[in-house]
Amino acid sequence: MSEPNDAAARRAVEPVICYPTNDFPQPDLTLYQRAAASAVVAVEATAQPREASCLEVPAGSFLRITSVEGAQVGDLNLFNAADLSERFYSGKTRALHGTHVSTGERLWSSFPHLRPMATIVRDTLDWYGIDEYGGSVHDVIGTRCDPYTGRLLQGHDYHHCCHSNLTRALADHLGISVQEAEPHIHDVLNVFMCTGFTRETGQYFMKASPVRPGDYIELFAEIDMLAVLSACPGGDCGAEHTSDTAPCYPLHMSVRTPVEGALSGWVPPERNAYDGTHGR
Ligand SMILES: [Zn+2]
Repeated sequence: MSEPNDAAARRAVEPVICYPTNDFPQPDLTLYQRAAASAVVAVEATAQPREASCLEVPAGSFLRITSVEGAQVGDLNLFNAADLSERFYSGKTRALHGTHVSTGERLWSSFPHLRPMATIVRDTLDWYGIDEYGGSVHDVIGTRCDPYTGRLLQGHDYHHCCHSNLTRALADHLGISVQEAEPHIHDVLNVFMCTGFTRETGQYFMKASPVRPGDYIELFAEIDMLAVLSACPGGDCGAEHTSDTAPCYPLHMSVRTPVEGALSGWVPPERNAYDGTHGR
């Protein structure tokens, strides 16, 4: 199509932020960080390379995900431990906080619950910011690598994509079949992954993660959570995924319990107050 005469004027309209952050109820980050500093490890697990692992994270405790051995990206699913229908909502988290999340931002749950499931309290990669390519760390724009897209684009089956790893780990944790577990798997928080969109074509890109052994991201559990983490077959996601080619390393998970009284004043968030009648 040819451009209309006023194309330049239409493009020149200034954008407005959909959800200005000063409208949000703010978490008490100082309280959380003080509690995190005194917390002790209660339970640990390791997501082995090209596998996933589950941990229950009680409300009021912390989940730390740590890079060990080598640069590695993780795909994280979060559920309400008592109700799997309430789960991490990547799309709404993106709409509220932007394409990538870091310290002070929150991970929101699906409709009709829509409440913060977790708050990011510490992120050793929060110095990274946005690089010259428009890349940043911990994205909520990718979905998760999966065998269906692999089949579509490469024409063969690969069973250790994050989607399949998460499915097997959830199935084993709940004692159900992979067929029963699969519908619960949802779009992830791409932990440590460095991604963005190309300015020219708007395509999703990835680049080698800046994560190094010892780096971690730590979440405060606002509700009782079940966390499932896959060590992505893409490794640092600097070259490719959906294959066994990339060097791949484990990711360590730990649940940390704060000392008694460290969270005084904290109240777990209620489910969203919308009445659900939709005008009827
Ligand atoms: Zn993956």
